[in-house]
Formats: sequence, structure tokens, C-alpha cells
Amino acid sequence: MYTCTMQPESTLKDTFRLNDLQYKALKKLQLNTVEDLLYYFPVRYGDVVKSRTIASLQKDDIAIVYGKITGLRTKKAFKKKISMSEATIEDETGKIHAVWFHQPYIAKMIQEGAFVKVEGKVSEKKSAPGTLVFTNPEIESVSVLPTGVGDSLFGGDDNSFAYPVYGESRGITSRWIHHTLQKIFRSGILDEMKDPIPKEMLEKYNLPSLKTGLIWIHTPKKTDDSVSARKRFAFQEIFIIQLEKFRERKEYQTLSSFTINDNPKDVKSFVDRFPFKATDAQTRAIDHILEDFKKTHPMSRLLEGDVGSGKTAVAAATVFAVTTTPPKNSEYGNLQTAYMVPTEILALQHFESFIAYFSYLGINIGLITSSGCKKFPSKSNPTKSTDISRTQLLKWVEEGTIPILIGTHSLISKSVKFKNLAYIIIDEQHRFGTTQRKALRRKDNIVPHLLSMTATPIPRTLALTVYGDLDLTLLDQMPHGRKPVITEIILPNDREAVYEKVRKEIALGRQAYVICPRIFEPDPQKELALNVKSVTEEAKRIKEKVFPEYEIAILHSKMKPADKESVMLDFKNGRSHILCATSVIEVGVNVPNATVIIIEGAERFGLAQLHQLRGRVLRSNHQAYCYVFADSKTEKTLDRLKALKTARNGFELAEFDLAQRGAGELYGRKQWGISDLAMEAIKNIKMVEAARHEAQILIEKDSTLKNYPLLKESLSKNEKVHFE
Ligand code: ADP
Ligand code: MG
Repeated sequence: MYTCTMQPESTLKDTFRLNDLQYKALKKLQLNTVEDLLYYFPVRYGDVVKSRTIASLQKDDIAIVYGKITGLRTKKAFKKKISMSEATIEDETGKIHAVWFHQPYIAKMIQEGAFVKVEGKVSEKKSAPGTLVFTNPEIESVSVLPTGVGDSLFGGDDNSFAYPVYGESRGITSRWIHHTLQKIFRSGILDEMKDPIPKEMLEKYNLPSLKTGLIWIHTPKKTDDSVSARKRFAFQEIFIIQLEKFRERKEYQTLSSFTINDNPKDVKSFVDRFPFKATDAQTRAIDHILEDFKKTHPMSRLLEGDVGSGKTAVAAATVFAVTTTPPKNSEYGNLQTAYMVPTEILALQHFESFIAYFSYLGINIGLITSSGCKKFPSKSNPTKSTDISRTQLLKWVEEGTIPILIGTHSLISKSVKFKNLAYIIIDEQHRFGTTQRKALRRKDNIVPHLLSMTATPIPRTLALTVYGDLDLTLLDQMPHGRKPVITEIILPNDREAVYEKVRKEIALGRQAYVICPRIFEPDPQKELALNVKSVTEEAKRIKEKVFPEYEIAILHSKMKPADKESVMLDFKNGRSHILCATSVIEVGVNVPNATVIIIEGAERFGLAQLHQLRGRVLRSNHQAYCYVFADSKTEKTLDRLKALKTARNGFELAEFDLAQRGAGELYGRKQWGISDLAMEAIKNIKMVEAARHEAQILIEKDSTLKNYPLLKESLSKNEKVHFE
């Protein structure tokens, strides 16, 4: 029998002759083994069916051409100073001019001399009748020209071939990858690779086998083949993630935790002290969590609620139940809570609100961030907090005398040891790996309860996938009396009118945010510098030209932590009227008196992010306003921004974004640990549900996967990728 010498785990370095540059490029693309390359799927297929030659174009055609781009430059057009980019596109048959208005970033996106695909409407130049021009066409770089470059792969000039296009890196071209894969295919290795997905399952869902799938995804003969192959691999990935989630869930249910038998009356009296009446949704969420606490195994719950729905108060009430419970076999001391948030600003803000909630109990509250530690109460002044050393704080945490510790990521670093950590709250962080959680397991195998809180509106399919191991509580109600934020998309001419409205709000005693995409102005020496508003320049401009009478403060991520802190404090206390900031204020910042937010360069933010930003002014019962400025006026941008205006909540927006933009673009791999391919499949609720259903059945039947060694192996590989 013939056996292939090449193995899936053979390294590319030992199997193929690579030069230095290729070796480095493969490393950068994280392609080490033959299997890695087999799973490196085309990012798309070049489809040249509809492309035209430049010579054949006529006025009013809507056409695609491929060619080389030259003479790319950006200037101010007409007297109105509209930014305009222009270039020439050339193929073997001729040249055509292209112009873009209001899209100065075109010049940044595309390199002079690159091969490009241009798609759009052909019109006649007004100034030169008979001369054709593309106006505002879509443009993208392509790695190779599909025709006329003498590559037999593209089937000569019959123009009807779908060719694979791979992500490249300097030293490795798409073509190299294609040819290397051909060699791998010829080695016979595909006949020896075992399919991790059980055969019956493939049949049930009509999915191709591993071998067929790999051939179809890399060298499809027709579109249907590549579609089925992509479906198969998306199913595989989601199925394996779901298996992992169900297995974790099952495993967690066998571990023990701290049982917290609260006295509901006590929690109620704590909630009654709130300066507002809890919403029904908040009360329900608190009850869910208290029920979980009574069980012997650890809670794993996700609290999902739109910005401003009051998640902090829910967290506080449940922390109260934990804090007032003494550790097992002891009448004294408190169980401990760790409350983790993504930024230092938020950590400080939560530290302060927890002092407000808990100071009457006379317990210690700690704050830990990489730039310093604090403790409440201070020895000298029991109504205030005080700075303390990290060493001191860690000592108290280890001794168990600080029952509530709030902080950034440093909170769960190895050096922080708790005496009786019973509860972890993760605020506005999308993922908290099981590995991290397992690291917190005690020697006696007791695991803390976990509450993960998020306002990030994500589509249901994605939630099922990435949060499959958590129980869900929705906070689907806003505090009583909240009015929807009035959102307006503003045209450049109406800028003054907006400033007038802002002035009125400030005169009423309110405050405003101005959000810009950049921190600093780009280097004006650099040609092609993007014309995007920066926090530093915009703050200066509005101080000089628009609001000289008001105090304007600046906040961005490059500032020193102490400066950030004092800027936030000043804004909170009304000492500054306008806070000009980057999207650092996106998550969680709570200044109820701020009722206006201006967002500059809005097309640079995702819809979910814009919604989060807008949430900054939905913190009180004053009517709030959000004014959105966009530099790009393409229809797609305007449609997106309109959705911001009409959607009733973040979830509707997320579904809209998913439908319009495609998941990969929205929720990058880094954020969720899912490949672009699987992200695309997230659009398909049926597939996600099928994968979930099958995973659940399998884990019920065989929780250790002893009858499915290949799946077990895939699972451990997957875990390594996700949470290394
Ligand atoms: P998020 O869910 O975005 O984290 P927060 O917990 O920061 O929201 O709450 C937003 C604001 O609403 C805070 O100022 C908080 O004190 C207030 N708040 C919370 N719950 C209620 C309620 N039931 N009624 C009135 N105001 C509330
Ligand atoms: Mg919050």
C-alpha cells in the first residue's frame, strides 16, 4: 500500500524549499505545518466573469474593470474646498480617469502602481465631452490581474474562472500558496487525513467530506462547490466551539462553589437604599443570581443589558449577598468579590459608586490598577479613600480583610491572592477565557461564581456561539422615565445650528461630549495624510472659534492615568462643560449631567460602537441629543447612520450591521476568537442551531468524548488557539 511521506503535521520548512523571506512570511501568517496551510482558506475568489476591457466602456455603463492605477493624488476641488482624489486606471486596451469626492482616504488605501479592481458608473467629463470618467467608483487592490498576466491558472482569456485569492504577506504571494497546495494535494495526503466530523452528521446536513471539502475550498470548479465547502468548515468550527462550551458547562457543574444562602430581606433592604426604584428587570436579574448562589456548583451567568439599563446596581445587590456571608465554618470575615473592568477610568468610577453603595456597612473596598492602588476607608478620614501601596493591598486581600476588590486586568494576575474569593464580576469584557477562570480555582477545587456583564449588542447567533457556556439574563428594560436619545445625522452646512443647540443645553446647566476619531493631527508633511478630526485640534478649534466662553477638557488614551483621573473628576463635578475625547469614553463612563454628544467622523466607528458612545448621554431623565457628523457621504454610510437613528435598541442595530456589513468586518477574529469564515456563517441561524444541537447531544452521550478521539484532539487544539 502506498503511504504518503508527507504528514499533516510535517512542517512546511522541512517539506518545501523556502527562502528566508518566505520562511518569515509563513511564520507571520502563523502557517507552520502542512495542515495549517490546508486550513488557510482563500479570503475570496476572483470572479472575472463580468469584467470589461477599458476600451469597450461607454457612457452610462455600470462596469467592472481591472487595471493598474497611476497618478493617484488628493487635492481640494473647486473653490468650495471639497476634497477630491483622482487617478488613472490602465489595462492592455486603454486608460480611463477616475475621481472620488469626499473620500481622501482612497489615496491612503491604494498604492500607486497597484493592480486594482474598479467598479462603478462611467460618465462623461463635463469639461471634456467624449472623455469618459469613473465617478466615485468602488475600488480595491487585487494581488494579481485576472487576465492577460500569462498565468495558466486563470484559463487563458475565456474570462470565466473563479480563482482563489489568499491573504498574502511580504515574501508569500497568493500564487505561491496556490501552487504549494497543488503539490500537497498531489502527494496523496488527503486520502490519509481523518475527518473529525462523524460521517452520519455530514450526511444529515449534506456536507462534503474533509477531503472533498479541502479540494472544493481551494480549487472550486463551480461556485456551488466552494459554497458547500465553506459551509462544511464553518459548521466544523462552530460545532467544535459548541462542544467545548457544552463540555465546560458540564465540567463546571461537577465543581463546587461557595453556597450563599442569603437572607432575601437583607438584600431587599440594601436595594431599598438605592437613590432610585429598581426596575422589574433589575429585580428579576437579582433574583436569578441569588437563586444560582444557593446551588452547590458555581454560577456562570451573562447579564446582557443595553447601555444605561443599570447593570451596576444589579452587580452591587448581589455583591452585598456575598459580602455579608461569612466563609464556611467561620462566623467571622467575609467572602470576597473581584470586580474586573476594562479601563482605569471605569475602575475608579466603579470604586466610587461602590463606596456610595457600601460605605454604611463599614467594610473595606480596594482598588487595584497598574498605576496605583486605593483603599476605602482611609484610617485618618473614614469618609474618604486613600492611596496605598500595592504590597499593602495585596497583603490585605490575601488575609481576606478586603472583601470587595475592584480593578483592571491586573486584578487576576498571579500575584493577587485571595483568601475566600467567591464571586467574580467581569464588566464590559467580551471574553473571559475558561483558562483564566480555571487559574482562579483553589486548591480545594472550589471555583468562584461568575457574572459577566455586557452591553455589546451582538446578534443572537453570535451570542449562542461565544457565550454558549453561560446562562443568560436579559436586562430588557430601561430605568423609568428615560427618553430615547434624539439622534440626527448632520450635513456640514448645519454645523453652526448644532453648536447653537449645544450652547442652549449648556446654558441649562448640562454638559456635552465631542468625540473625534484621532488623538493628534496627522503629520501635515506627510502627503496623503488623512483629513480626520483629532481631539487635540478640535478642542483648540472649538475653544477659539465656537465656545470661547466654556471650559473645554481633553481625554484620550495617551494621557497619564493621573491626568485622566482629574479630567474625569472635573467633568463629573461640572468644572468643565465640554469633554473632547476619543472613543475611550465608549464603555461605561457615567456622567448623568451630560446630555449632548457630538460624534465626528462617524463612518469610522462601527454601529455598535456608535450606540455605545450615544449611551453616554442616556444616564438621566433629561432629554438627550446625539449629533452625528460623517465625512463620507456614500449611500452605504448614510444607510448605516440612518439605522442608528431608527433602531430601537442595540440588538436591532447589531442585526442590521450583521446583515449589511458581514460579520468578519464587524467582529474581528481577535475579539471573539473565531475565524472570518465561521463569522460569516454566523449569519445563518439554522447552521448555528444545528451545530449547537449536535454538540449538546454528543456531550450528553459521551461527555469525555472517549468514542470520538478525533474530535477530542480538535478540541484541545482549539482551546490552545483561543486562550493561549
Ligand atoms: P449600565 O447598564 O450601562 O452599566 P449603569 O449601571 O452605569 O448602566 O447605570 C446608568 C445610570 O442609571 C447610573 O447613573 C445609575 O445610577 C442609574 N440607574 C440604574 N438603575 C436605575 C433605576 N432603576 N432607576 C433610575 N436610575 C437608575
Ligand atoms: Mg456599566
